Amino acid sequence: CGVFGVYAPEEEVAKLAYFGLYALQHRGQESAGIATFEGETIHCYKNMGLVAQIFKEDILKTLPGTIAVGHTRYSTTGSSLRANAQPAVVETSLGALALAHNGNLVNTLELRQTLEKRGCDFETTTDSEMIAVAIAQEINSGQDWIEAAINAFRLCSGAYSLVIGTPVGLMGARDPNGIRPLVLGEIETDAGNTRYVLASETCGLDIISATYIRDIEPGELVWITEDGITSHFWGKSERKLCIFEMIYFARPDSIMHDESLYTYRIRLGEQLARESYVEADLVMGVPDSGIPAAIGFSEESGIRYGEGLIKNRYVGRTFIQPTQHMREHGIRMKLNPLKDVLNGKRVIIVDDSIVRGTTSRKIVRALREAGATEVHMRISSPPVTHPCFYGIDTDNQSQLIAATKSVEEIRQQIEVDSLAYLSWRGMLEATGKDPNSFCSACFNGDYPITIPNNLKGAKLI
Ligand code: 5GP
Ligand code: SF4
Ligand code: MG
Repeated sequence: CGVFGVYAPEEEVAKLAYFGLYALQHRGQESAGIATFEGETIHCYKNMGLVAQIFKEDILKTLPGTIAVGHTRYSTTGSSLRANAQPAVVETSLGALALAHNGNLVNTLELRQTLEKRGCDFETTTDSEMIAVAIAQEINSGQDWIEAAINAFRLCSGAYSLVIGTPVGLMGARDPNGIRPLVLGEIETDAGNTRYVLASETCGLDIISATYIRDIEPGELVWITEDGITSHFWGKSERKLCIFEMIYFARPDSIMHDESLYTYRIRLGEQLARESYVEADLVMGVPDSGIPAAIGFSEESGIRYGEGLIKNRYVGRTFIQPTQHMREHGIRMKLNPLKDVLNGKRVIIVDDSIVRGTTSRKIVRALREAGATEVHMRISSPPVTHPCFYGIDTDNQSQLIAATKSVEEIRQQIEVDSLAYLSWRGMLEATGKDPNSFCSACFNGDYPITIPNNLKGAKLI
């Protein structure tokens, strides 16, 4: 999911949230919402679909206020329903709160029982609403906003990057492992005031010309009000940023560790070329996510880079089923090969990951039909062998091709002449950071936050 928040009484905050969410659309395409605070009054609009489909000028006009919180949803816990769209709005004795969550809690069963014992009710099936309800329950028993949030976070286990709006201030927080990203930025208003912005990624700051200040730290809560910003920590924190954010999920123009992910992904491709060079005429990437690594592979190997597949940028979800004829001939809705580029060529095709393996086989068949004489696949991450429990929907373990098949078996299944993945060490060393400061559980099963047995049973083989 994508989360966004802004405190700026002199600005049209709903519009800033709209543009922030527009830049964070890649983090979730299922639903989106914006809540604004106008003193004690909360306004909220959310719906299914893309940000630009949901919000029009007339709807943004119904969202006045000094604080805005926004969310784009990608469903992990809780089904795909309008009721599950965020921000989650909950009433408290200090006024309403609006919460936008990115991540996934792992102790929802236990948390729900704890909260039900305290007399709490729920309207949806999401873990995100549980966090909002937990905070509200603490407020109602006499805590202030900061204490209430911290007490609620102590009940939560799992991944959560949060933006929370209240009538008096805006809150941003990251779980003690900082699994999902969250950044702080500032905007200079026309009146000369400095105001704060929170976003999942720096691309959500760039779009509104906000300046990146820093990341919210793992286990940090920031509280933004008329008086400025304060920072609060609770308990022990240990950095475990999701490496999949860096490899695939976050936008390439977002900055993590002082460089764009584009630059990191180029280095992954260079490392991949050092590890698994093969002679060929052309290196190409699977658009869009495989392209930076393909460029890096080409630079390091000296093999010419080219485009062999063109992506239709306007493919979204279609509810019209393809015809039988289209199905039999392989659907080319999203990617179309360039026959004159590929014909007679030995091709290296680079992608960021193989999850189920269904996309890869279709692409490989299309390249051969376009005349490629050899197809070598190179993947800029290790085999995905384990599901994610922290907010990336990598399916059940049984659906992950590398969970049950060897590299040679996968090579046969996707019908390539050779297949190689990047090493786990190569992926982490390319970050230039301490390898222990990342979660890479989907590549090695080493989950930094304990997964309760009920969840393990549901997703692991
Ligand atoms: P697959 O092997 O599942 O057919 O597809 C792999 C492709 O999907 C890669 O190009 C990769 O960029 C993309 N991908 C990787 N992880 C995910 C994910 O969690 N969700 C979705 N929708 N696509 C993913
Ligand atoms: Fe990211 Fe994989 Fe860890 Fe999930 S399991 S948080 S996708 S590295
Ligand atoms: Mg891709």
